[in-house]
Amino acid sequence: MERLKIAIQKSGRLSDKSIELFEKAGISASNASSRLLFASSPDFPIDILYLRDDDIPQCVADGVADAGIVGENVIWETGQQVEVAEKLGFGKCRLSLAIPRDANYNGLQWFNGKKIATTYPNILKKVLADNNINADIHVINGSVEICPVIGLADAIFDIVSTGSTLLSNGLVEKEKMVNSQAVLIKNEKLSAAKQEILDKLLFRIHAIHAAKSNKYILLNAPKAKLNDIIKLLPGMKSPSVLPLADSDWVSVHSVVQEDKFWGIIDELRAAGAQGILVVPIEKMIL
Ligand code: ATP
Ligand code: ZN
Repeated sequence: MERLKIAIQKSGRLSDKSIELFEKAGISASNASSRLLFASSPDFPIDILYLRDDDIPQCVADGVADAGIVGENVIWETGQQVEVAEKLGFGKCRLSLAIPRDANYNGLQWFNGKKIATTYPNILKKVLADNNINADIHVINGSVEICPVIGLADAIFDIVSTGSTLLSNGLVEKEKMVNSQAVLIKNEKLSAAKQEILDKLLFRIHAIHAAKSNKYILLNAPKAKLNDIIKLLPGMKSPSVLPLADSDWVSVHSVVQEDKFWGIIDELRAAGAQGILVVPIEKMIL
């Protein structure tokens, strides 16, 4: 039987989340800690390949791996031809332009004629071109943020998450240019058999994502108010209504979206609902 080979980061910011995603999808990927290159999953026709993140786009483009999990920033920087099968919602970060705190900043044109240090020269080239800025790019492989301090560059273009590393090097983030997150990528010419395995994996990932953004809600409603309360609950089809020992009351069960949740709770209480319970959903198949 065909097996699907998926490359994930061996050790780094995306490793734990990638393994966790497979575990939730019922695929054991936990050999990572033993640093094996391959982990054959006994319960799904998938093999996991542990690599440095920088090597993942090319491996998938070449077909050495069929699919992979990597940050969009790495795909853009390497410029490899791969297809994004799913955005995964973790590993979120942004690529920003930062300058010395004491510089006299007057907008993007400040960067004209300046020297900018980065580990992302290709993304920076595009960002500069898109904004009609003419600057020198200084490629460096690590510790980009110390470049302005030691006089190697006037500014930097780098991944920023909190800004505290910048601050401790006397820099401030001035322009947020690109947002990135982890994505599941695939080879552009997968065989039908492999695509079928990938589709099964994607089906499971969709169920995990849907569950994450929804909550199961249970509440007690006075029968007299039931219609008003049901109108507030969208649910997957329509809410379940169960009898209670006290015949003036019923129990109502439904699903609400996480982002609409607090608004709905307030309205439900105002409509007479009591004993509201909200519980996480493990998987959700629509
Ligand atoms: P490798 O050893 O695999 O080459 P790395 O050091 O290049 O690892 P990590 O620092 O582990 O990479 O980051 C992996 C990815 O995590 C980044 O490419 C980016 O997409 C994402 N990421 C999310 N937040 C951050 C952050 N604050 N700093 C750096 N990367 C981040
Ligand atoms: Zn890397």
